[in-house]
Amino acid sequence: KSDALVIGAGIAGIGTAIRLALKGFNVKVFEGNAYAGGKLSEFEQHGYRFDAGPSLFTMPQYVDELFKLAGKNPADYFTYQKLDVVCRYFYPDGTHINAYADQDKFAAEVNQKTGEPKGAVYSYNRNSARIYKVTNHVFLEQSLHRLQTYLNSKTLQSILRLFQIDALRSMSKANEHFFNDERLVQFYNRYATYNGSNPYDAPATLNVIPHLEQHFGAYFPKGGMYSITASLVNLAQDLGVQFNYNSPVDEIVLKNNKATGVIVNSSFVAADIVISNMDVWFTYRKLLKQHPQLFPSNILSQERSSSALIFYWGIQKKFEQLDLHNIFFSANYKAEFDAIWKQQTIFNDPTVYVNISSKYEEADAPGGCENWFVMINVPANTGQNWDKLIAEARIYIIQKLSAQLGDNIEEFIATESILDPRLIESRTSSYQGSLYGTSSNNRFAAFLRHANRSSKISNLYFCGGSVHPGGGIPLALLSAKIVSEWVD
Ligand code: FAD
Repeated sequence: KSDALVIGAGIAGIGTAIRLALKGFNVKVFEGNAYAGGKLSEFEQHGYRFDAGPSLFTMPQYVDELFKLAGKNPADYFTYQKLDVVCRYFYPDGTHINAYADQDKFAAEVNQKTGEPKGAVYSYNRNSARIYKVTNHVFLEQSLHRLQTYLNSKTLQSILRLFQIDALRSMSKANEHFFNDERLVQFYNRYATYNGSNPYDAPATLNVIPHLEQHFGAYFPKGGMYSITASLVNLAQDLGVQFNYNSPVDEIVLKNNKATGVIVNSSFVAADIVISNMDVWFTYRKLLKQHPQLFPSNILSQERSSSALIFYWGIQKKFEQLDLHNIFFSANYKAEFDAIWKQQTIFNDPTVYVNISSKYEEADAPGGCENWFVMINVPANTGQNWDKLIAEARIYIIQKLSAQLGDNIEEFIATESILDPRLIESRTSSYQGSLYGTSSNNRFAAFLRHANRSSKISNLYFCGGSVHPGGGIPLALLSAKIVSEWVD
């Protein structure tokens, strides 16, 4: 059996480990933290359970696929339910919109709340579906860096239709074309944040994202988001994958243009192939620092995606007007993105996202209480005075939620924990604390993500949100698939 060594037990590292075990490799995973999941982890505080990072689960088929590949019934490990209301939107003018999963219901809701014709929603959805059809096969499911990708007829057909993907204007410009009502433009612009980008710069190709959510649906995993990690670790272990925690890899050892293994906890561990799930920036700068000639400098200098500031609050009250996912929009979205991207700071009227898993999983909070995950988008960490910015943001957020909910929120906060870009960077080795690797603000971003295999070290592979095809759980899992298909 050949030995495969995976650096990092993020969701992509776990997915890769499963796929390689199924290919017959003897797989060892080395994880720097004491726990698996990286960004997709959880913690408890005074009787409240919190998912630490991701809260929105889309494209569950990529998780199920791993169980099926292993000949298992996914439901024996992991179950989830489809959401009828994907998210509740609260606008500063008092408008509330429920984003129903059902297209007809959503079009009717939009029409009733904003006067925008239902047909605008249908035509928007058709456009998103079209972009998905053209881009999915070329940009998401395969490597962009392998000749054989370009040699099959499906890819060629997609390439011939690339002019249909709306890459020349920004997301926001396209959304203004579809909708007259600013609230709808704001609604659809928000999807840029699903990969940490700016809707006023990112190409309208990203208007594919609503299709992923609205067509394929949004889901809640039983036990919360962390159960994705836990169930895949169980599967990996059932397949013989060995997980080593508290094991930060310090170096990838190279000899004659091959990776021979890694140095971990001061020992050398040999391997036939090495897969890095560590952010590609740190993989080069830390694990391959003795080989600067290998650094792909144009890729490593790409702008990073945005980061997040999260307050995890134990709330001693139940808010019936809130659902699992809730958005409280800012009054000036353009100014908010300018603050994040141009001034690299936190806006004084940020859009606030509140996720409450105890709406679906009662045990996540004590009786009569709720576990609030309160997040705003913030710039990547370039050395801002975060302590000051966080203290200010806390005030803006409490003011906004209190005004919208008609209650002084601060009175109900029983416990608090905070995650900021510095901690995201240090806990998961994500350069600048970015959530999704490089940003997609640039039209060529898809081509400027690192490949899933080194062009110079043939047995060194890369998976995870910082490399092709990009960040977010579904794409991170696709990177695992691409790696495993590429491994000889
Ligand atoms: P990571 O989760 O970053 O894991 C990398 C792992 O490698 C870590 O465990 C780290 O400790 C380990 N590691 C790094 N270096 C070493 C080393 N040298 N040695 C050993 N181990 C090492 N996505 C969604 O789909 N939906 C969402 O709602 C969503 N919301 C998000 C909210 C937040 C706050 C955050 C932070 C992210 C969110 N994301 C969301 C993005 C999603 O979490 C990531 O894209 C995805 O989890 C990335 O997985 P990964 O495997 O690439 O890496």
